Amino acid sequence: MRFGFDIDDTLINLREHAFHIYNRKLNQSIGLEIFRELKTVEIHEAFGLDSVAGGKMWNSLLEEIYFTDCPAFVGAIELLNQLEREGHEIFYITSRPKGYCQKTRQWVKDKGFPVHDERFFCGMQDQEKIDIIKQLNLDYYFDDKPAVLDTLKEITTSIYVKDQSYNQQVSIPRVKEWTDFSY
Ligand SMILES: [Mg+2]
Repeated sequence: MRFGFDIDDTLINLREHAFHIYNRKLNQSIGLEIFRELKTVEIHEAFGLDSVAGGKMWNSLLEEIYFTDCPAFVGAIELLNQLEREGHEIFYITSRPKGYCQKTRQWVKDKGFPVHDERFFCGMQDQEKIDIIKQLNLDYYFDDKPAVLDTLKEITTSIYVKDQSYNQQVSIPRVKEWTDFSY
């Protein structure tokens, strides 16, 4: 079968990783309990920043957020390697900015995820993911972001939401932990 995965906050814990970086840069020590209550994909609110200042902060730290030691979610690397061993095809579909795509692909490989170069899609807008998912004729697709998931209601691909504080309102099958996932 053909499995498609978003990367950030679906397979890897990017926002929490960024949250630690923000704390360090801003000399703060905002607790993870605040992080876990956030109802937005963006994390700036927890630091008292408005969306303009938050956007600036995110962009200025992008290299560090993306390419340091962001952890994968427990079980994610193992699951994808197991799927690969079982003969399934694994596709990555990330809307990270175009300029970061090659480096991201290498980072994901180095992390231990199974990557075939031609199955790595990057640099599209959130609302363009649907076209790729359809073209690839995926059997399964996983994402965390309501703005993406909302566009995927009418397709035959089985869609799952990776459980996060900001997507509780999304009512489609949910993956809480990768270690519990079975298809
Ligand atoms: Mg994501």
